[in-house]
Amino acid sequence: MNTQRPILLTGQFNDRDDDCACPDKAFLLVFEQGESSEMDHDCACPDGAMGLTAVPTTPFIPHFTQTTAHTQPLPGDNHLAYSPYAPGGPSVLNQEAWQRWQQFATPQPLRDPIDHDLAAQNLLLPEDTAVTPKYTTPQTLTAWMHITNACNLECPYCYVRKSSARMAEATGRKAVQQIFATAQQYGFKRVKLKYAGGEATLHFKLVRQLHELAQALAKQTSLELREVILSNGVHLRPADADWLATEQVKLMISLDGIGAAHDRQRPMKGGGATFDHVAHTIDQILQPRGIRPDITITVTQQNAGDVAEAVRWVLARDLPVSLNFYRQNLLSANRADLALEEQAIIDGMLAAYAVFEEMLPERPFFNGLLDRVQAEAHAHTCGVQHSYLVVSHEGRLAQCQMHVNQPSEHMLDGDLLLPMALGPIQNLSVDQKECRDCEFRYRCTGGCPLETYRATGRWDVKSPHCNIYKTLLPAALRLEGLRLLKTNNLLPS
Ligand code: SF4
Ligand code: SF4
Repeated sequence: MNTQRPILLTGQFNDRDDDCACPDKAFLLVFEQGESSEMDHDCACPDGAMGLTAVPTTPFIPHFTQTTAHTQPLPGDNHLAYSPYAPGGPSVLNQEAWQRWQQFATPQPLRDPIDHDLAAQNLLLPEDTAVTPKYTTPQTLTAWMHITNACNLECPYCYVRKSSARMAEATGRKAVQQIFATAQQYGFKRVKLKYAGGEATLHFKLVRQLHELAQALAKQTSLELREVILSNGVHLRPADADWLATEQVKLMISLDGIGAAHDRQRPMKGGGATFDHVAHTIDQILQPRGIRPDITITVTQQNAGDVAEAVRWVLARDLPVSLNFYRQNLLSANRADLALEEQAIIDGMLAAYAVFEEMLPERPFFNGLLDRVQAEAHAHTCGVQHSYLVVSHEGRLAQCQMHVNQPSEHMLDGDLLLPMALGPIQNLSVDQKECRDCEFRYRCTGGCPLETYRATGRWDVKSPHCNIYKTLLPAALRLEGLRLLKTNNLLPS
């Protein structure tokens, strides 16, 4: 940075859609320090990052001290610094800010504006103060609507046991009504419906009907409404795309590689290539209508080496992208070629990160870089048990979409969240896991609880992919640091 003024940069993060229940709909964290009062914040995550106060509202001026943080050098004498207790993403400090931060190795009062910036990111904390995470209330009730069990593709990692069965209109209507009633009962501010399957676009008529009902209920209840269709992108009719554009319903499309790499992992039912269809949908049907789908890439051992090119393709179209790990399930258990072989995944992801660095988008992309990792401080990996439910095509409830083949006996009556809280999946807070001393705990939160349980038989231990997370997180954070420098015109050429 060509300035003598101390500068701290930090970013905002966008929502993006994938299969899971986004943790930003679950618990965000407020970190309480000593006697400081709880801070009100208007959580806008997409909900946005949580707010927090780093300055206790005490009548005396306390001494502040440096927090232990993840740090790394960045180009141009800049540094990245990330307190475990940061409310949102990492901070970038120029040389002057970095030096000022070092001075707090000796506790002292906050004096300069930069001191307050450092304290706001919890890089400085009041001396001798224990930090206690405080869970905020989820704002969004998210529901996976299993519109149909049918699909035109036959992906080897899919957890849905396909059939031609569809959700009946009456079932869908009852589900949407009960979802809104449950959201009101618990005081949620918004409802998010994920139209999924199978391939939800094969039963588009029902999606339209449920959307109309949801809109009417949102108006009636004053709850916000968000909707997204999860699709393989192979067959989207132009008329349906027109409708998406008009109705502002989002679309998420799966893409696992370019050409044969995608076709191998996402073949047509009975065989046949699908990449060209997906590319046609995005380039010829969606982009001309101004529709920017979220792209999700499922990373397996098989396609790890192809992810970088897929990322290049997506970034060339300026689309949001998230990289998600394959999860073994009952239907895919015999596919050893999909299992997450650690080194192959790390190498493939680092190659993809190199493409991010080369193309370096200016809009935030950190939240899509690593399976379930989010920049906003949070304690639970996803909304399971707290703010998420899955409605099967028969109107049965499940805690997670990966259990849609074995839903509970609970139907769409009364409080829909209570059976979710009491279900078999234990979505523990990261503070209840053996991750509690990890510097990345409030970003990674121990990974997918189901995956951990499958691999270990326990809910309270680290992710089986912990080493992947710990290896990749510094590289992902570096990208966010570079992005912040670039967007502020401070990246040395
Ligand atoms: S799984 Fe590993 S990286 Fe993730 S929070 Fe736990 S200890 Fe940290
Ligand atoms: S349990 Fe795992 S697969 Fe299910 S919603 Fe949570 S993170 Fe996703």
